[in-house]
Amino acid sequence: MVWGIENSRELYGLKGVLNNQLFDINEKGELVVKIKGKTLSIAELLKKRGLPGANIRILPWIGEMIDYIAGLFLKNIRENNYRGEFRPVYPLKVNHHELVLRSIKRYGGKYSWGWEAGTLPELYEALSIKTKGLLVIDGVKDFRGLKRVIENKEAYGEAIIDIESIREAELLEEIREQLGDKIWVGFRIRPMFRGESIWSSSSGLSSKFGLPLSSIYKIIEKQPWIKDKIIMLHFHYGSQIVTKDALKKMFTEMINTYTVLKEKYLPNLRYIDTGGGLAFDYESTLSGSSYSPDYTFREYVEIMVKTFKEHAEEQGILPPDIVFESGRAIVAPHRISVAKVIDIRPYISELGTEIELIEKIQSSKTIKELSEIARESENIINRLLSFTENIDLKRRELLEGMIKTIYEEIAGKAKEIYLMDKDNALKDLAENARTGRPLYRFLTSPSKRYVLSFSLFNVLPDYVILNQYFQIVPCSMLDKRPDVLATISDITCDSMGEISEFISKLPEGFDDIFTEEDNRLLGIPGKRIILRGIPLHLPGKNEDYYVAFLHTGAYQDPLAMGHNMLEEYPEIIIDENNDGELIIRYEDNVKDYYPR
Ligand SMILES: *Cc1c(COP(=O)(O)O)cnc(C)c1O
Repeated sequence: MVWGIENSRELYGLKGVLNNQLFDINEKGELVVKIKGKTLSIAELLKKRGLPGANIRILPWIGEMIDYIAGLFLKNIRENNYRGEFRPVYPLKVNHHELVLRSIKRYGGKYSWGWEAGTLPELYEALSIKTKGLLVIDGVKDFRGLKRVIENKEAYGEAIIDIESIREAELLEEIREQLGDKIWVGFRIRPMFRGESIWSSSSGLSSKFGLPLSSIYKIIEKQPWIKDKIIMLHFHYGSQIVTKDALKKMFTEMINTYTVLKEKYLPNLRYIDTGGGLAFDYESTLSGSSYSPDYTFREYVEIMVKTFKEHAEEQGILPPDIVFESGRAIVAPHRISVAKVIDIRPYISELGTEIELIEKIQSSKTIKELSEIARESENIINRLLSFTENIDLKRRELLEGMIKTIYEEIAGKAKEIYLMDKDNALKDLAENARTGRPLYRFLTSPSKRYVLSFSLFNVLPDYVILNQYFQIVPCSMLDKRPDVLATISDITCDSMGEISEFISKLPEGFDDIFTEEDNRLLGIPGKRIILRGIPLHLPGKNEDYYVAFLHTGAYQDPLAMGHNMLEEYPEIIIDENNDGELIIRYEDNVKDYYPR
């Protein structure tokens, strides 16, 4: 079997609709980014300055995402004769990095992209970056903030102040005279349907956010003047809504609420703000798991437009203008985080020793037989590990050595059996994976620990906070079969600074399924499985080996933590000038914190 870059494209998930647009592997086996018809090698970008790692920010990609998503909406609206408009806003919460906001304004200008602000600093920032778009003012308000909105009418096309409580409705009474020309009011609705995402506590009857219907009636009753000022209903079901089924339910709830309120109480309603929730496929598998939706961007838009159109027609009303408020999908791809491998350590100790079990492993002929022995082996290992309380050094060394040898022998044997009779072995391996038998645990376990020069707390905080999955791809050697499964450790002194999950979804017919060196599994063709180590290469001596984490552009900048004093990380900014030529700028004169 010869490993080629096509195998790496499959293994590392570079073939999905989006990744295929953004990434490739060059003939040297290096990961490259595709920007404006050019390709740049990530490893080269870092080696040029001998960097320990960096966040690479590709600003033209923000433009590509904006064009892509806006294009889907405009096409759908046109083709369906949808008689409402597309009014996008960017929620500053997702990433308020100066370059990100500047790029949204630059690339979103032709679609009148506006802002959604959920706090006073976000509101002030939004007012300072003027656009012709909508300004949605969300979150807990006070009078100072409202005054700023009134004083800065040139900063937006139209401002909508969301109210979320009776207190906020009363707050508006003081500026009642100012409302209705350029400044309007919206109701943030507390959705009934819970969005089935890890963030779905943003919705449901006990949610922190939004008005229950009963409060809406109360507000209208107490302050009847407000009826005419309300032009928008604002919904947000949580970030990362991953199933089509949930989308249908939430869009249906939105349009039903809209039609009822418009007919009975709020004649001037025009907008539905659909909130965030457009899920980003962090696995590139479209699997419907927490980090991978079961739908594409195109399907999201189609389901929304179709649901709104059908319900509005049934009720005989004009369909609403659509305020699109997702930020994650727009900015996630633009940042790639890269870190250099600075040490490779054994996962378990290096010593080996012979025991009877090894002979049994060696004499097994099928995966089924091996699977039985793996079960026995796991019991033996568990028993060995239960005696470790008063263990002396010598015994501990022996014990570690025995365990490591058992792992090595089982994995080596599994690969040998597979190479002799692939079809049958594959069937048995798939069965092992399905039932999670001990053999499967052996074959998907790491044998190495790679230390990378970065802080997970600083670069991928959501990994630490919610175990968020990010795709991991080596930046070089992609023309070679991965050598080992390894965990990735950062340089913080914290046991949480370690990654040990890799989602593998090899296509049917992919038959090169074992690592080169430690004989671990790379995947089961046709199945999505989770490996407990990341497939990586053993670089030559003095060879720089970098590892990239993809799609880190949403939320990671604002949430970055300064654990262990690791507060800064080099940046490489890739921008374009007005003629469309690429400009590469290094912001790497940060404090020299990172081992090289
Ligand atoms: C967080 C948030 C968003 C962004 O949602 P994503 O799905 O992460 O893009 C949009 N609207 C509101 C009100 C939010 O709180």
